[in-house]
Amino acid sequence: MKFNTKVIHGGQENIDPAYNSVMPPIYQTSTFKQTAPGQHPEFEYARSGNPTRSALEKSLASLENGTYGIAFGSGLAAIDAVLKLLKPGDEVISTSDLYGGSYRLFTSIFKKFGIKFHFVGMSNPQAVESYINDNTKLVWTETPTNPMMNLIDIQAISKITNKYNLLLAVDNTFATPYLQQPLDLGADIVMHSATKYLGGHSDVIMGSLVVNDKDLADQLYFIQNASGAVPGPQDCFLVLRGIKTLHVRMQRHCENGAAVAHCLKTNAEVDKVYWPGFEDHPNHEVAQKQMKDYGGMVSFTTQKGTLESALEFVSKLKVFTLAESLGGVESLAGHPATMTHASIPKEDREKTGVVDSLIRLSVGIEDIDDLIADLEQALS
Ligand SMILES: *Cc1c(COP(=O)(O)O)cnc(C)c1O
Repeated sequence: MKFNTKVIHGGQENIDPAYNSVMPPIYQTSTFKQTAPGQHPEFEYARSGNPTRSALEKSLASLENGTYGIAFGSGLAAIDAVLKLLKPGDEVISTSDLYGGSYRLFTSIFKKFGIKFHFVGMSNPQAVESYINDNTKLVWTETPTNPMMNLIDIQAISKITNKYNLLLAVDNTFATPYLQQPLDLGADIVMHSATKYLGGHSDVIMGSLVVNDKDLADQLYFIQNASGAVPGPQDCFLVLRGIKTLHVRMQRHCENGAAVAHCLKTNAEVDKVYWPGFEDHPNHEVAQKQMKDYGGMVSFTTQKGTLESALEFVSKLKVFTLAESLGGVESLAGHPATMTHASIPKEDREKTGVVDSLIRLSVGIEDIDDLIADLEQALS
């Protein structure tokens, strides 16, 4: 099955044996009647499993060309579950340029439990190798990175993680499986904030993991049930419904993202534009190699370079909404230094390029003329 068919039918055979409904029913129940003591039906208690969640988990696995999908109550709950594979003394090598909430989870929660994190710029994959020792268990990457739009060569990193027998996890939230399929490139775990493009309509918080290895899947299902950060059936239904238009939405996000990036690049009020489709983007060949297109995320800095110039720009926008998050049908603008990345100390964030004048756009699927006119009036 090709990708555009998988988004609609992948993993969805026989989802409603009771009435053959085309969409999976929302099983709004906490528990399932057992016919006799000791006889375990497929579903017993909805933390352990629910048919609506199961339909979504099968769809997620299919989209990532994986075998096992595991859904969580948020993207961070999915990352939390991956970290719970580790024990005190273990070490993690993570990209330095990553989602602020992931950084906070690593440094404010898991560090306390004796897990050590190394933050490394992974645009040069070789940089990873020098941090590996006997305690290293996991390499955590995100590509394109948030908000600097750096690209990490997943296949090159996976050669290193295979050599040392480490787990490689890729946060695929920005790219989505429409653009890039990390398991095919050698990753062991692919993670999503399904809140973003998979859900696609800014109406749900959810996360997911997809893996191929049975043992790894069993450990993660165990954590999903034992820690209990599961999504509700209504939210699973919403994400499944969002996924059915992922390919058409992504196609438009990419077209509009390209148009916005080119328009910003020629605007005199703009300094740098970060978008992997530019030939002079430092990792452009990696994008060409591992992504189908360049996505709908674009970041830029103002020519004035000040905090005030960035805040003035975002406050003048009319079609773009000033909001955290990304990946919905509507265009959003964010100011990482005061919003998504406010939890990262200023020196640390500036080292990776998240300066006070940086603005991040999640380009939606509105008419491109309205989007460009809005950016131009806010910059003028
Ligand atoms: C939003 C986001 C997360 C966290 O997901 P939640 O659903 O908000 O918990 C993780 N990684 C990336 C890249 C994100 O954009």
